[in-house]
Amino acid sequence: MLANAMLAEDVAGHDRLARLAESLFHPTGVDGVYGRTGVYENIVEALAALISSHRPVRAEVMRFPPVMSRKHLERHGYLKSFPNLLGCVSCLGGTEREIRQVVDRFEGGEPWTDSLESADLVLSPAACYPVYPIVAMRGPVPAGGLIVDVASDCFRREPSRDIDRLQSFRMREFVCIGAPEAIQDFRLAWIERAKALAEDLGLPYRIEVASDPFFGRGGQIVAVSQMQQELKFELLIPVRSEEQPTACMSFNYHREHFGEIWDLATEDGAVAHTSCVAFGMDRLAVALFATHGAQPSDWPTAVRNVLKL
Ligand code: AMP
Ligand code: ZN
Repeated sequence: MLANAMLAEDVAGHDRLARLAESLFHPTGVDGVYGRTGVYENIVEALAALISSHRPVRAEVMRFPPVMSRKHLERHGYLKSFPNLLGCVSCLGGTEREIRQVVDRFEGGEPWTDSLESADLVLSPAACYPVYPIVAMRGPVPAGGLIVDVASDCFRREPSRDIDRLQSFRMREFVCIGAPEAIQDFRLAWIERAKALAEDLGLPYRIEVASDPFFGRGGQIVAVSQMQQELKFELLIPVRSEEQPTACMSFNYHREHFGEIWDLATEDGAVAHTSCVAFGMDRLAVALFATHGAQPSDWPTAVRNVLKL
């Protein structure tokens, strides 16, 4: 395609999403942070129920708040890989008098945020992080793999005006912890299941090998190695345009990374491998609206039936 035509399609895509944003979201004054309408939220709930209906029977359900232990995230190595995306919780500490002084400064029109102190919390950047230390505390996992169904609100500092790139968004994941063969099988099976899900939802898609946005120049080398080892696949949907499709699900193989960090072992004493399948709930919902239109009552009957609308 000619560069001009590509540009025109991109601009049209942005405009279409901007119009969709007006009907689905309430502005909050911050890019990538939105209030959600009832129509939108109904679809997120329907999607969540659909994913639950595909939950492996032996999966254990865990739900987490939008914040997690800062120490745990540090131990995960997040600061090395994505320091630019992290949001940390900071609060006012000290005595009543000290806190009052800060508030007085604010009320006097002066800066006050330099008095904030880092708390022992960060905003969770992915739903699966809190799972590994919890499972590790229980002792060895079965070689056949332990499966956890996990969800949380996530935060990534990537402000954008595009509604398929939020700072605060919902993530659902199935995590598998076990012997390498079980983990590989789990991931492959889920890639197939995800394709069927996208088809059931009438969403055009393609699956591609991908990399995470590792920080800095050193990060580019890690990203290349991740792609060469095919550690990440994504299910891409043309939400904005064919040329710049949106990653709505990801299929990640962490190898022994989390197993080594948390001393996760299988019953035979080997380091456990881990994998997670992540569903971007907001991206999937936006993809449905972008594909089928702003009014779910106008969506194809087959799609409405799958979502039990
Ligand atoms: P990742 O850990 O980057 O593979 O993210 C898991 C899933 O979360 C992705 O496949 C997306 O669907 C979703 N996701 C990641 N970043 C964002 C974002 N900034 N806004 C909305 N959804 C996101
Ligand atoms: Zn994960």
